[in-house]
Amino acid sequence: MSTEPKPVYDFSDLKDWPAATAGLDLPARLSVFGDPVAHSLSPQMHNPGLAAAGIAAQYVRLHIRPEELGEALRALPAAGFIGTNVTIPHKTETIAHMTEVTEVARRIGAVNTVLVEEDGSLIGHNSDGPGFQRAVREEFSVDLSDLRVMILGAGGGAGRAAAVQCAMDRCERLVLVNRTLDKARELATELRDFFRSDRLAGPVDRLEVVPWDHDALARQMDHVDLIVNSTSLGMKRSDEALLPPSLIQPHQMIYDMIYAPARTRLIADALAEGARAANGLSMLLWQGAISFEFWFNREAPVEAMRRGLNTAVAERQGR
Ligand code: NAP
Repeated sequence: MSTEPKPVYDFSDLKDWPAATAGLDLPARLSVFGDPVAHSLSPQMHNPGLAAAGIAAQYVRLHIRPEELGEALRALPAAGFIGTNVTIPHKTETIAHMTEVTEVARRIGAVNTVLVEEDGSLIGHNSDGPGFQRAVREEFSVDLSDLRVMILGAGGGAGRAAAVQCAMDRCERLVLVNRTLDKARELATELRDFFRSDRLAGPVDRLEVVPWDHDALARQMDHVDLIVNSTSLGMKRSDEALLPPSLIQPHQMIYDMIYAPARTRLIADALAEGARAANGLSMLLWQGAISFEFWFNREAPVEAMRRGLNTAVAERQGR
């Protein structure tokens, strides 16, 4: 008789994975590590993708605490894993346990996707930056390389991933904004080389760090096309506005990495000002699709993954 997977497995399960997963109709060979992890929608996105691709494996949640991370990662080859995602709070620490990391993961300074090689090596990648890139392309039909981008919250993990991707894609211009300005300054120092070029200097610098202050932001608005929210502000209805709506211009695109609620205050303000706006669900989808491509070296079944994700989000909203 086949058994349903547990909603959340833990480290003691991983230590004896065959026993913990006995009876499953498909072997659990992919996961997401997190602490907490019960909220993760990744299984509902990846399992329909695996089924559509005809891959006889399933994806589960693993509650791994920070002190268990190294041992849990080292247990993956013997447990028969293809790979895992890692989420909060493990993305930075995971780098130290990898045999190798990709360039984008090294530059972002965090890993969210681990591939287990046949010889037991662990290869770390980061699909948040590339997922952001593909989400922007899908939502606005434009590439980062053609855009002047402002990132609000450039000091956090997601903002850093987006900024590194913009730099690696040689975006036209990058404006880093963060409440704690020193974090944005440090990031700018790391990215400076990407913005040295033979292009003619315009009226503003190609890479700027800007304090979170009305006049400083207002001075930038004629010189940015895409504004990204990578702060956690906007998740609660009571959160203050990120930008005064009057600063938003109709030609601009707003990408809010938050996807719950689906229409944040920033998105509503942007639409009211005549700008285009999208929420972070597409980034969640595309980072998952890029993880799939990294694990299987083939195109991801994106539409099956999108249907799974949309269903999971709708079920959560209905609760
Ligand atoms: P994080 O590392 O904790 O960073 C939080 C960021 O928000 C920092 O830049 C922080 O500024 C800023 N911030 C927090 N409270 C603020 C406030 N009251 N005023 C101004 N700035 C404030 O978190 P993260 O992992 O980067 O996640 C950030 C957001 O992105 C979350 O909403 C998360 O859900 C979303 N996200 C979405 C996706 C997706 O796939 N759609 C993926 C990853 C993350 P300081 O540096 O000054 O503290």
